[in-house]
Amino acid sequence: MLNIVLFGPPGAGKGTQSERLIAEFSLVHLSTGDIFRLNMKNETDLGQLAKSYIQKGQLVPDEVTINMLKAEVQKNESARGFIFDGFPRTNAQAKALDNLMNGMGESISTMISLEVDEIELRNRLTERAKVSGRADDADPAVIQNRIDVYRKETAPVKDYYSSQEKCVMIDGMGTIDEITERIFAAVKNLK
Ligand code: AMP
Repeated sequence: MLNIVLFGPPGAGKGTQSERLIAEFSLVHLSTGDIFRLNMKNETDLGQLAKSYIQKGQLVPDEVTINMLKAEVQKNESARGFIFDGFPRTNAQAKALDNLMNGMGESISTMISLEVDEIELRNRLTERAKVSGRADDADPAVIQNRIDVYRKETAPVKDYYSSQEKCVMIDGMGTIDEITERIFAAVKNLK
């Protein structure tokens, strides 16, 4: 299996680049943010719970997120591999993902970290708000909170993967095509 963690702050381009990776490498895309939003739309209990955190720009608690992710992986056990987009966002999630993969006799192949400066992130999220319909993209205070949460709680996950020599930093500035090229080169380098 080719199992890629696509990592980076909100607005780094994880969703956009995931679509290209799925097409190129035939992987199953698991975006925890997308799954939460689907649950919010369908007004499930999980959606209601997630909404109370998402609308403030906070992380949904680990236990809830990990259980949801596990269920999605188990639904797709015959996959050629996965792209984890927006997961893990804490060290506890990273450990849980390793345990889950190990239990399947698999492992994370690489973690690709998209590096984008904060001014650019704010600009991209503000632009995205015009088309995404996402309340958490429309409010500058929520955007700032998401960036702060990334810095404090999520960025340390890079050290987790660095210690396994799996963290690949990719320059996430430039055109979408340029960034795709850099990511593909990193993934092809693995094989
Ligand atoms: P995203 O679509 O990845 O930007 O995620 C939108 C929101 O969903 C985040 O701001 C969090 O509130 C929540 N979320 C998504 N993924 C996770 C995760 N792995 N852990 C905790 N909360 C998450």
